[in-house]
Amino acid sequence: FDSTTRTISYLQPRSHLPVKSLQQGEKKRILVTGGAGFVGSHLVDRLMLMGHEVIVLDNFFTGRKNNLAHWISHPNFELIRHDVVDPFLIEVDQIYHLACPASPPHYQYNPIKTVKTSVMGTINMLGLAKRVKARFLLTSTSGMYNYYDYNFYIYISTQVYGDPEEHPQAETYWGHVNPIGPRACYDEGKRVAETLTYAYMHQDNVDVRVARIFNTFGPRMNENDGRVVSNFIMQALKGEELTIYGDGLQTRSFQYVHDLVDGMILLMNTDYMEPVNLGNPDEYTIREFAELIRSEVNSSCKIKSLPAPTDDPKKRRPDISRAEQILGWKPRWPVKQGIGETVKYFQRQMEAGLI
Ligand code: NAD
Ligand code: UDP
Repeated sequence: FDSTTRTISYLQPRSHLPVKSLQQGEKKRILVTGGAGFVGSHLVDRLMLMGHEVIVLDNFFTGRKNNLAHWISHPNFELIRHDVVDPFLIEVDQIYHLACPASPPHYQYNPIKTVKTSVMGTINMLGLAKRVKARFLLTSTSGMYNYYDYNFYIYISTQVYGDPEEHPQAETYWGHVNPIGPRACYDEGKRVAETLTYAYMHQDNVDVRVARIFNTFGPRMNENDGRVVSNFIMQALKGEELTIYGDGLQTRSFQYVHDLVDGMILLMNTDYMEPVNLGNPDEYTIREFAELIRSEVNSSCKIKSLPAPTDDPKKRRPDISRAEQILGWKPRWPVKQGIGETVKYFQRQMEAGLI
């Protein structure tokens, strides 16, 4: 465990991981669904190091056992293969509900399953929270704000995208999602998951938290998940052309995974029940971002333009005033530094022949 980067190498022997010893009463039993995935595995690391008991449910659709290998057989840790579409019963104090594929190629691979995961999976986990009186945190998405110019898209072209009507996006903005576009299975799935979360809160007094997460990156991202960060880094490392979709003037704001984990844990442990944006407001055009990655990898690879995907949001940047005010949280990792760490991770993986 490196206190500067707070990353854990799973090549390290487990005895070196400094798990805190908690007193009776401080130690919580925490369920993390989707805990073998990118964000989930970092959250599990932090909760384990804090000294809690952590149970992970994952069907390994996009997650990997390797992401958690360093905790296997630790007395505080349990990994269970389970699909959240099916009910599950366990006594816990808190539930972080992350199970859901997050990258466009993964969630579009089987859109029906994506909707089932968001809807039935969230009902099952809220039902569990209700039954055992656990606090429940939903990982929602900035995608619920996406706005597409729907009529234009249907009648004129398949390559016209809207902008969010509000920029940057605050929690009070309701978004405007195309219900039948290729991203709908994910965006609408998360919107229903939020609706369910607040229905369980109002109807059954479930204690809920909602994190609306903006684009996040870091070590353990899947190298071929099709997201821009992993695509550009892998392309630059292999000396291939960087693929920019569309004109590259669309914007995103990228947050390093350790900042997100800080925000999620703070949110879970406050009394605030409204949705909270967690993201880094540092906004880049995709073209600027390609330049940044080229310089971090020290590569002179070329840039290739490819057609923009249908329904690609034009602008995205979080308004994080609420998180700053309620949680006293703001990102601490500059994007450039996070990219540096992520490049090192992919380099090490390549050298070890793991990717
Ligand atoms: P990921 O794909 O790496 O992790 C998702 C995990 O959920 C994987 O381990 C996968 O195997 C598991 N899973 C998927 N369907 C399941 C099912 N039916 N039953 C049990 N497990 C299942 O994605 P991530 O980037 O770690 O995202 C985690 C959460 O955060 C997701 O809910 C995602 O929507 C949300 N989120 C992520 C981002 C981001 O930029 N990474 C942005 C917004 C929201
Ligand atoms: N993108 C790109 N090249 C790639 C992958 C993605 O130009 O190789 C663009 C994509 O069109 C989008 C942005 O980068 O505008 C972010 O894409 P990603 O899939 O990472 O996340 P999301 O679209 O869900 O924000």
